[in-house]
Amino acid sequence: MSGKERLPVRGAQGDLLRLIAGGHAESRAELARLSGLAASSVSLRVEELIGSGLLVEEGSVSSRGGRRPRRLRVSPTAGVLAVADLGGHHARLGLLDLSGTPLVVEERPCEIALGPEATLNWIAASFDDLLATHGPAGVPLRGIAIGLPGPVDPASGRVVSPSRMPGWNNFPVAEHLGAHYDLPVLVENDANLLAVGEARAWPGCETVLVLKAGSGIGCGVIVNGVLHRGRGAAGDISHVRVSSDSSVTCSCGHLDCLEAYASGAALMSVLAEQGIAVGRPSDVVALVDDGIPEATALVRNAGRLIGEVLTVLVNFINPDAIVVGGSLSKAEPLISAIRAAVYERCLPLATRDLEIAVTRSGPDAALLGAGILLLDAVLS
Ligand SMILES: [Zn+2]
Repeated sequence: MSGKERLPVRGAQGDLLRLIAGGHAESRAELARLSGLAASSVSLRVEELIGSGLLVEEGSVSSRGGRRPRRLRVSPTAGVLAVADLGGHHARLGLLDLSGTPLVVEERPCEIALGPEATLNWIAASFDDLLATHGPAGVPLRGIAIGLPGPVDPASGRVVSPSRMPGWNNFPVAEHLGAHYDLPVLVENDANLLAVGEARAWPGCETVLVLKAGSGIGCGVIVNGVLHRGRGAAGDISHVRVSSDSSVTCSCGHLDCLEAYASGAALMSVLAEQGIAVGRPSDVVALVDDGIPEATALVRNAGRLIGEVLTVLVNFINPDAIVVGGSLSKAEPLISAIRAAVYERCLPLATRDLEIAVTRSGPDAALLGAGILLLDAVLS
């Protein structure tokens, strides 16, 4: 198994390493241009980073004997990041190298309702297991990131008033994992991780709303290419009140929250009342695919309500794209109902070039987002 070590970088070294790890630069000249540092200062720090085994330089001579431009890369032995994205009933766990490339990704069943201590200890054991079986020999672990399906206070790393996470309210998640690892620990809302990972697949889109429609409903907000957290609650649209003929009490105690009608959990409980048993949100998608009218009507209504909330956000922040992820996003009626509501109700100027689409990055998007944010934390 690998050791655990904080990255030995100081000040501007971290910025240069981040520019290379993020794929923004691969030469000293590009580093100088992007960092604003003098060329001599960049060269000195690059030599230090190469000397400490964090950067490698390759491609100096081609096979035909001609010179090729040399290229700086983060060394594959510079470190490993352990990242996890927790849902209600499963966790996606991965090891990434410092450039964010996955070394291994696994999905394992995990009940978040067992409470924070049992869940976090299980995650730590799972990371140890992945490192022992897939961690490259001698490459140290540099940091831990975990995404949770509830609001996270970024200052304290605690979950605040989550739904469907009994025992987690105000639990010191970062502190608990930090006691196990003594490394930088990043705790983040799952929709925020999805947004950061997904944003890379939308070049040219600077402002993006990334909706996560699974058991719950979340939204990550990217403004000018950067995750907007606010004080931690930015994008949390789950308890926005929606208009409805009936009246439902939400888990937060208020009436008619979006989550009480449009979350996967809400759809599953309505289906159960109608005698249609489903275990997870993807089962609802399967019912829609099979043409079960009750499921299709519910999903369409969920899309309409989500779309109505999004109309306010689109008029307000005027994004370049709305990207829909999470297990419910695979239900086509959800996306078309969101599109219909937004295009009908928003200002023409706001929707003229607006794209509304499902995620492009695949099932590992949140883990990739976790890697990007964690590298920032590790290098700062
Ligand atoms: Zn609520």
